[in-house]
Amino acid sequence: MALLCTEMFGDKDLDEWHRIGSGGFGTVYRVRHKERGFVAIKLVQQNSGPHDALNEADCLKKMSSKFVLTVFGIYQGNRFQQISEQQGIVMEFMERGSIHTLQVDLHGPPPLPLAIRLAHQVASGMQHLHSINFLHHDLKPSNVLLDNDFNAKLADFGLSRVTTSVLSNSEQSRGGTPGTFQYWPPEAFPLNYKAVRSFDVYSYGILLWSILTGKEPYEGKEFSLVELRIKQGDRPDVSLCQKEEKEKMTEMVELMTHCWDEEPSKRPHFDEIITVTEHVFSDNKDGIGAAIQEVLSKLEQEQSKSSGQLPQTNAAPTPENAVPNDTVDHPPLAAQ
Ligand code: ATP
Repeated sequence: MALLCTEMFGDKDLDEWHRIGSGGFGTVYRVRHKERGFVAIKLVQQNSGPHDALNEADCLKKMSSKFVLTVFGIYQGNRFQQISEQQGIVMEFMERGSIHTLQVDLHGPPPLPLAIRLAHQVASGMQHLHSINFLHHDLKPSNVLLDNDFNAKLADFGLSRVTTSVLSNSEQSRGGTPGTFQYWPPEAFPLNYKAVRSFDVYSYGILLWSILTGKEPYEGKEFSLVELRIKQGDRPDVSLCQKEEKEKMTEMVELMTHCWDEEPSKRPHFDEIITVTEHVFSDNKDGIGAAIQEVLSKLEQEQSKSSGQLPQTNAAPTPENAVPNDTVDHPPLAAQ
């Protein structure tokens, strides 16, 4: 495979390995690089093989956009095993974890202006991917990562859907990161299904519901039951969406139901989706500063309640790495 990621990272430049979490394809660490400061490294599981890691890194490297996670290169070293070298993807470290970890820490959705900004940033990232003929295939809250100011970036694509879903499913039964199949459209359940753009659009509709409710769709239900419900046209309950300011909700609820239409050809394109999210975001952007302050104080409360334990969002960066809260940089309205 011709890799665009030429930068290689070895053990000599890396220290302070801190485990963040693991998914279907490996374990992610926050690591200090001697020049770059904190980076994230996803060490690939033995059974998924280096090919997958390199494939994911290669995919991510091509996706240059402020709404897509930046990949720096490939790790090759012996940090955790002496006999043979391990490989991993070296990427930008996202201080605030993912939308999933934020939902867990807040015990619900973020305040509405921030939820709407996340929805718009995810749509902008997806519009960019589709505009360069790339599919995500695995949109869900744990695959949308958050920087220090809670800006969203898409991560985790270019991997086999079947493997991810099966592994994530077993993770879920152990109380880990929720799985993937809840975000699949009805037409995607046959094993030989080949994803197209409307797959991502359906997943975006479900993700939008999750962002606005702070909940997991079909929570705790097994694969076969969820499959049956999705095929029968059963969708998450839109009455659970945040109720404040109903008018804004009407537009977002219409958008999500349009995205998860039974019929793939009726689902909108991301070009149309961002015109809606952009409009709703622009009506709400004055509330972003207060929304972020509210989230920060809730996270602080959670942190002190859990007696010194860090919340699920990633550990606070060191002062030299931190972006001061008063320099919150609001994203442009449209995708790049
Ligand atoms: P799966 O890959 O099976 O769909 P997942 O997305 O949870 O599940 P990973 O991508 O391996 O699995 O991520 C594991 C954990 O590491 C998650 O909590 C995720 O939020 C966190 N994480 C992943 N990449 C980064 C990063 N670049 N910066 C900070 N945290 C990250």
